[in-house]
Amino acid sequence: EARAINGSGWTRFDPAASDRITRWREMERELWRALERNEISVTYQPQVALKDRRLIGVEALVRWNHPQLGQISPGDFVQIAEANGFVEKLGQWVLWRACDDAMSWAEPITVAVNVSPLQFTRGDVVSDVAQALAQSNLPPDRLQLEITESTFLDQSGDLVRKLNDLKALGVTLALDDFGTGYSSFGYLAKFPLDKLKLDQMFVRNLTDSASSQAIIRSVRSLCEGLSITMICEGVETEAQRAFLAEIGCEQGQGYLFGRPQDNDAIRDMIGSGRL
Ligand code: C2E
Ligand code: MG
Ligand code: MG
Ligand code: MG
Repeated sequence: EARAINGSGWTRFDPAASDRITRWREMERELWRALERNEISVTYQPQVALKDRRLIGVEALVRWNHPQLGQISPGDFVQIAEANGFVEKLGQWVLWRACDDAMSWAEPITVAVNVSPLQFTRGDVVSDVAQALAQSNLPPDRLQLEITESTFLDQSGDLVRKLNDLKALGVTLALDDFGTGYSSFGYLAKFPLDKLKLDQMFVRNLTDSASSQAIIRSVRSLCEGLSITMICEGVETEAQRAFLAEIGCEQGQGYLFGRPQDNDAIRDMIGSGRL
């Protein structure tokens, strides 16, 4: 049996963990080359008005098509990109790509782009957004930035000022994955948020869970009181859509309305007025 030593003495050496570390190191190196090699792309998922399914925007979701491993989900590589310092470059590129693609659509719908907390601290998200808007000519109100609650933890870089600078550029701000993090109501009052995205875990068991229903209703009235738009993630069934529309939740996103698709497919969908 293989063994390795740690601070407190002998411990079992776990070959699976060692493989994971090797794989992680490899991916850290490969990510830097992935952009130049055109392995990174952006897909777009519809966001709709829940009452009539009208398309109101899309969310940009990054993909890595790895030569050996195939499609890697951002859930698996954004963390690596955050650890190796690549995420600032990646974030900048996704912003530019999304703004440019949005200019090719026949309707002036919004494009929502996920922003890593590290783009606020190590990167310069305000100047990246300003440049993406200037280069693409996209009207600023068509760009929405999705931030998570973890962004609020590191406030050393004067976060409130940066968020206000972004708002001054004319873009809108959404709080992503609400309900899974710290969910302090203080954030909702302190930061200039336009939209709250309720995490998909609440929608998943909505139709047979009284507690999920209660949570969704109370988040709904919170948004109403604060004049913040509410969008629900992970809407997969008509029963879920109907419940959410019934309680007055404005928007939804999920497989019921469409999967993430490449820009050609999204452009065709928008042009043909489908959905
Ligand atoms: P997110 O921003 O919360 O995005 C929603 C995720 O839910 C996406 O996963 C989407 O494909 C998935 N999804 C959408 N509808 C449904 C549904 O009906 N059912 C289920 N089960 N899932 C659904 P994806 O594309 O794998 O992205 C995962 C996460 O990676 C995103 O979560 C976001 O946090 C992060 N991410 C994606 N693109 C970027 C990016 O460009 N930059 C950064 N920093 N993070 C990104
Ligand atoms: Mg998001
Ligand atoms: Mg989310
Ligand atoms: Mg999520």
